[in-house]
Order: sequence, then structure tokens, then C-alpha cells
Amino acid sequence: MTAYPQLDHVAHAAGIDRIAIAATHIVPDSVTDSYRRWLAAGNHATMDYLGRYLDVRRDPGLLLPGARSVITCAVSYYHTAAQPAGAPLIAMYAHGDDYHDVMRDMMRPVADYIAATYGAETRVCVDTAPVHERYWAVASGLGFSGLNGLVIVPGLGSYCFLGEIFTTALLEPTPPLPQDTCRGCMRCVNACPGHALSGRSTLDARRCISYLTIEHRGDLPADLHTGGRLYGCDTCQRVCPHNDGIPESRHGRFDLRPDYAALTAQSINSMTPETYAATFRRSAIKRAKLSGLQRNIRYL
Ligand code: SF4
Ligand code: SF4
Repeated sequence: MTAYPQLDHVAHAAGIDRIAIAATHIVPDSVTDSYRRWLAAGNHATMDYLGRYLDVRRDPGLLLPGARSVITCAVSYYHTAAQPAGAPLIAMYAHGDDYHDVMRDMMRPVADYIAATYGAETRVCVDTAPVHERYWAVASGLGFSGLNGLVIVPGLGSYCFLGEIFTTALLEPTPPLPQDTCRGCMRCVNACPGHALSGRSTLDARRCISYLTIEHRGDLPADLHTGGRLYGCDTCQRVCPHNDGIPESRHGRFDLRPDYAALTAQSINSMTPETYAATFRRSAIKRAKLSGLQRNIRYL
């Protein structure tokens, strides 16, 4: 809850499950330095875009001149519908519609409300701008950081899409979270099939099955066992106790699509560019490209 009941109402009505507010500022050196070290060690693999615009990532005023507040948003995509046993596994976040589109649809009314109420400028960010997303989520009290490298939203867990609305409006920040933090149980670190988690909330993308099956082009590491995963990996979320007993998402657009439930290794191997484009229209799975999915099939 923010100090603005009408803002909370607009956000909830638009589909956003939780919002929080922080006053914008230069991201602390401790955060940016550790991010630079992470990049310098090559942990971002081939995702060179993560190393670009570090000045903008550090200073929200370069993203939106005059920015004074950021509204952080979380939308749960958690659902219990599962793919049939033996099917090539798709990470839960990609079971339904592409979250970039859905989140934008949900965040736009909130940005419009801010603009109309405060005569303010806004900028909506859903993975599309250089933003220290995890920092702002934690700084605003939206959630806390897990050793799995994810933001955990109290009561909703980590199966949440995140987005930010930067604005020139001066809004009262939400209070910090009470002591509800990652338990440091190391379940995520120990369960990670790629040994990609450091145990210090950082991840080596070069060993992460999510990165390798989605972003990476070319062969996968010879010693990697993808364990039947076609696209992405949910293991470090599945084992986290903060995801025990969380409610299902209220958004049907993130449910498992029937045609994805019916996917098999054979059906993917026989896809043409046309059938691939039709099957994964409005889906995050497009990111892997047909050649990437067919490569992943070889490693199942
Ligand atoms: S997504 Fe999978 S491979 Fe990547 S860090 Fe999590 S458990 Fe490890
Ligand atoms: S599995 Fe344990 S260590 Fe990992 S994020 Fe969850 S609570 Fe933290």
C-alpha cells in the first residue's frame, strides 16, 4: 500500500498486484561498483546490452529528465497448470502472453493517472531501458533480494514480473519492508543444475540454463545437462520456501496455453519459420528463435 489510495486502486484495477514508491537518486556506488565487477568478470555472457548505458542505469535523471520518484510494479504470473510429464519444459513466465506487452498494457493507465493528476512526465520501463531494476524494487520496499538473484515480493513470491514508472511527480515513498528477507537456506544455490549461483545473489549467465536456452546462440556447453528444459529454467524459484503456498495469478493471460501444453520435441523439430511464427506470436518464446529451440531439443 502506498500513501495514495486512488493510485493503489488504479494500479490494481489495471492488473498490477503490488506497487511501491521510492524517491529517485543516484544509485549508490556500492551497487554500481559491484555491477561493474560482475560485468568485468564476464558473468553477463553475450548479453552485451547489459554493459551499455551504465551512466543512465546509475542516474534515473538521464532516463527521464527531472525524475523525482519511481513507482515499482509487480505482477504475479504464478499458476499451477503444468506441462504433461515428459514434455520439453518451458519456464513458467513464458507459458502465456509476452509479459512485455501485458505489463505495458497494465502500467500505461497508472502512468496516465500520474500524468493527469500531477501534471507530470512519466516513463514506463519493462525490461526495455537500462535500469537497476532489483535495486529499485528493494529500495522502494516492493520486495527483497534472494540468493537466487531474484526479487521476492512478500506474499507473492518471486514468480512476478517487474516494471518501473519513473516520474517527475514528487511522491511520498512507501515505508521500507519489515524484516522479511531471504532465509539464506541455500536451496536455490544447491539445486541450480548449472551451478550458476554464487550464493551472494549473483549469477554466472554462462552456466545458467535460462540464459543458455534463451539468449545464447551456438552450441551449449558440452558438460551441461539441461534436464529436459526447452526454454528457461524455474529451479531456483521452485525450491525457494518463499514460493510455498503463494496464490495463483489472477491473470489468465499468463496461464499455460493449450498449444504449448501440446508441444513435443517432434512438433518443434518439424516447425517451419511460418508455423513457428504463428505458434509463438505474442509470446516471449520468440526470443529463442526457431534455430535456438531446435538446438535445445538436441540437448534434452
Ligand atoms: S534459472 Fe536454473 S540454471 Fe539459472 S540460476 Fe536458476 S536454477 Fe540455476
Ligand atoms: S531458496 Fe533460500 S536462499 Fe534461495 S532465495 Fe529462497 S530463501 Fe533465499
